[in-house]
Amino acid sequence: MNYPKLLEPLDLGFTTIKNRAIMGSMHTGLEEIEGGFERMAAYFAERAANDIGMIITGGIAPNQESSHGGATMSSDEEAAKHRLVTDAVHQAAPDVKICMQILHSGPLAHNPDCVAPSAVKSRIGRYVPNELDKAGIEKQIDDHVQCAVMAKKAGYDGVEIIGSAGYLISTFLVEKTNLREDEYGGNYENRIRFAVEIVERTRAAVGEDFILIFRIAAMDMLEGGMSWDEVVTLGKALEKVGVNIVSTHFTWHESAVPTIATMVPRAAFTSVTGRLRKQLNVPVITSNRINMPDVAEEVLARGDADLVSMARPMLADSAFMRKAIEGREDEINTCIACNQACLDHTFSGKLTSCLVNPRACHETMLNYLPAPTPKRIAVIGAGPAGLAYATVAAERGHKVTLFEASSEVGGQFNLAKKIPGKEEFYETLRYFARMLEVLGVDVRLNTYASPAQLQAEAFDDIIIATGITPRMPEIDGIGHAKVVSYIDVITGKKPVGDKVAVIGAGGIGFDICELISHSGPSGAVDRDVFAKEWGVDFDNHPRGGVTGVEPVVARSAREITMIQRKDSRVGSGLGKTTGWTHRLSLARRGINMINGAHYDRVDDAGLHITVDNKPILLDVDTVILCAGQLPRRDLYDGLAALDLTADLIGGAFEARELDAKAAIKQASEMAAAI
Ligand code: NAP
Ligand code: SF4
Repeated sequence: MNYPKLLEPLDLGFTTIKNRAIMGSMHTGLEEIEGGFERMAAYFAERAANDIGMIITGGIAPNQESSHGGATMSSDEEAAKHRLVTDAVHQAAPDVKICMQILHSGPLAHNPDCVAPSAVKSRIGRYVPNELDKAGIEKQIDDHVQCAVMAKKAGYDGVEIIGSAGYLISTFLVEKTNLREDEYGGNYENRIRFAVEIVERTRAAVGEDFILIFRIAAMDMLEGGMSWDEVVTLGKALEKVGVNIVSTHFTWHESAVPTIATMVPRAAFTSVTGRLRKQLNVPVITSNRINMPDVAEEVLARGDADLVSMARPMLADSAFMRKAIEGREDEINTCIACNQACLDHTFSGKLTSCLVNPRACHETMLNYLPAPTPKRIAVIGAGPAGLAYATVAAERGHKVTLFEASSEVGGQFNLAKKIPGKEEFYETLRYFARMLEVLGVDVRLNTYASPAQLQAEAFDDIIIATGITPRMPEIDGIGHAKVVSYIDVITGKKPVGDKVAVIGAGGIGFDICELISHSGPSGAVDRDVFAKEWGVDFDNHPRGGVTGVEPVVARSAREITMIQRKDSRVGSGLGKTTGWTHRLSLARRGINMINGAHYDRVDDAGLHITVDNKPILLDVDTVILCAGQLPRRDLYDGLAALDLTADLIGGAFEARELDAKAAIKQASEMAAAI
């Protein structure tokens, strides 16, 4: 057994969790749509059938005023719908546990009736919450209790009550959001009363044989947040009144420290869980950026936790645990922490899925079934679209030949992996390379497929995934020697001077600025560097882990200006949950950002632009073009000239689809249908 700690059962006395891997809570949006419970049942059952130890559902609100726009469980009718989910999971794997998360959004609820201990608006909340009176507090406690009772009736093995992240319970705990002067405010004993009463009364109502988990912000990353002593005091108080497991969380949503983005080092926060574990008698769960079984095993072996929660990795690969158990970890489709199809969707009101696995949350709709008539298929281009198409088609039994002009598979992913903080793309490349091998795809590297060759080989279908060419904007002097493309910069083919202008401020403009302003060694940053750059003190744990700790960021050695024509804020088109981290980290490094610019010309003096009718000369020695892309269709056109038909996918279909999320989804769906 390669993962003795990860695969060890955990005996809770009245029940056993079969291994230490938990699918953490994640709102998917399925909870609210027509037919969503059927889809949720299939989504969770697939993970259960593949040996996850325990599943925690997305948050369910205990009443209307607590809803963040998601589902509630405040009536037997609402609870009955969950039977589909619990039955599906228990039928798929009777030894897998499923717990429902009870999430009272408090001041983050999406309705004007939202409530909180005090009328303190969250920085990211929509409304000033209504201050609860005594009767209101009693109602909120009782609604939590009734919700847990209904969850038990609906067949859940337990509940997780969330007491972190800036949701209701956590706002009672923290001084700046709890200004009360009654027995629920003031000193800490009073501020934890609400949490303790919820747990105590829930335990009394559900009995002893029901898993009760409480999620605590072990480091809330909030100026003036919880002190370490307060975290420990809360944990001890909760175990006294009947929690079975304490789950550690590391943020409030309004915090200015990234805790799950791809630049966060793997397992960065688990030592905090480890410290808490030493203080408590009940098992503890750790989480955040644990995305491969060896990382989970190390965390457990270090004694940092009893259980490891992985939410996004279970979206990325439903068979994560099965592959770990069978020693096929090199076949795991690893979560790269991009947030692009999961949290960015959740926070934009869209259905959750996964960039690397478009089947996530679409298990009843997108399936890779054996092809009725296996075909000989040529896929041209081994970027994200070509790789996804080739592997899905081959999985279905088609005989696939994958042509790639360069010496390696990956396409634009080979550029992305070189950007500091995006090293997880190596995992995606490892996954695809391994699957091409496992599925027997005929991979022809260093092969520029010509129309004549494709015609000669008489494939049944030809799929063009030749990607993009960078857009060359029409600016006077664009051919000047100081103008280079982003591809030449990332591949190191062209040198970059000390004074740089970047034309274009999309995802790639930001990536380029990240790359050329980075001062440290290449490769993933370690926890200490991360802590320094984001102002976190893991060792001394001041309030929230961050109070009084100034971020220390090395300013860029290069003078860099990033420019766009649009009037909108630079970077406003980046991902909803990660864009702010990129904007903030570049601003801290001193990158100058200009919007509303008109490009006049490039010459020996530099880049001439006009902003607000004022001419400006940027005295730069390098101008890097990051002005988007155009589809590359030379092969497609060549085939058409021979009267050969082909299908376009990815960037070759639509340059906008250079976006890997769209490319992989489109390619997988087409390959599932051929
Ligand atoms: P993009 O996001 O479309 O941005 C292109 C940039 O070029 C814009 O800032 C645009 O701004 C500018 N531009 C467009 N036409 C121009 C012209 N004719 N002259 C001068 N400037 C022009 O494209 P991208 O940055 O190349 O990214 C491509 C894809 O990769 C996107 O789909 C993106 O999602 C994905 N990607 C994402 C990330 C990420 O972190 N999420 C990172 C890298 C790539 P103005 O028009 O205002 O000048
Ligand atoms: Fe992970 Fe990105 Fe998939 Fe979300 S979309 S689960 S972050 S790979």
